[in-house]
Amino acid sequence: MREFEFLHPESVTEVLDLLETYGDRVKIIAGGTDLIIELREDEGPENLEFVVNIAHLEELNYIRQDAEKIYIGSGTTHSQLAQSSLIKEKIPALAIAANSVGSPQIRNRGTVGGNILNASPAADTVPVLIALDAQLRFKSTAGERTVPLHDIYIKPYKTNISSQELLVEVAFNKLSRSASSSFIKLGRRNALAISRMNVAVILDQDSDGVITDLRIAPGSTTPVPSRIKIAEEVLLGQKPTPELIKISGEKVSEEMINLSGYRWSTDYKKPVIETLTRRAIQEALEGRG
Ligand SMILES: Cc1cc2nc3c(=O)[nH]c(=O)nc-3n(C[C@H](O)[C@H](O)[C@H](O)COP(=O)(O)OP(=O)(O)OC[C@H]3O[C@@H](n4cnc5c(N)ncnc54)[C@H](O)[C@@H]3O)c2cc1C
Repeated sequence: MREFEFLHPESVTEVLDLLETYGDRVKIIAGGTDLIIELREDEGPENLEFVVNIAHLEELNYIRQDAEKIYIGSGTTHSQLAQSSLIKEKIPALAIAANSVGSPQIRNRGTVGGNILNASPAADTVPVLIALDAQLRFKSTAGERTVPLHDIYIKPYKTNISSQELLVEVAFNKLSRSASSSFIKLGRRNALAISRMNVAVILDQDSDGVITDLRIAPGSTTPVPSRIKIAEEVLLGQKPTPELIKISGEKVSEEMINLSGYRWSTDYKKPVIETLTRRAIQEALEGRG
């Protein structure tokens, strides 16, 4: 286990000062469910000397809405997301994804901010937030900036966010009343050592059943999380049929192979992602998400 000094600031302002003072010698800790494992395995930043705790900061722990958007503080835990009546009502896929993370203990500690910034390809809340076109609000002593979630990932476990920046909030536009969402994850027991895969879908139809909005975001599929536009286009403007839904799933695997190449795991991942996508679309159509 790496040795470090544990810093316990009283406010976000104090966190930002500590990040500036210690530069690349400090790391933020929220729930610690990713970071502690990294440090226990002697990984993490070479110069690390300090860990700054944000888990207790109420300023980062909230779920709010206004007329247009939903705002989630970065310190919100998976349990809080999963149990939030606002999230369950407005975007059930996010509650389902949060509820699928680890075990109750992990969900009680692990935060949405940590899930996003750990940048694991298998992070469960990320595909839903990608489908929602979520925006992230960061603070540092230099000021504040908002960036689209899909812009921060460089490769697995690597973002372009500076170690001086604190993620304070995740926000996204509310969906229309008729929209539905779904999230499906391959059970861990079945996945064994192979990357867990998941898919988030957001879907809307007009009164004739024509699909007017479709967002498909798979996890553990592409080098960095993204919506699969070629799969969405198959169904957009169409009345869904089993054949079109199947083709849409195939487009997801086509994109996976285009972006990642044909790998040892592709024979397994291809049918899995096609099936998960098909089921996620069907669930969203049935409004079950
Ligand atoms: C047994 C086990 C099972 C798990 N199962 C799942 C699972 O099923 N699905 C899943 O998605 N994940 C799973 N995880 C991973 C982990 O629980 C989640 O990724 C969790 O959301 C991480 O949040 P955290 O608050 O614990 O992050 P931390 O470990 O505290 O931090 C993770 C990273 O994010 C940075 N960070 C955290 N908060 C901020 C912030 N506000 N601003 C800037 N940087 C920040 C930290 O510096 C660190 O680099 C599992 C972990 C364990 C140990």
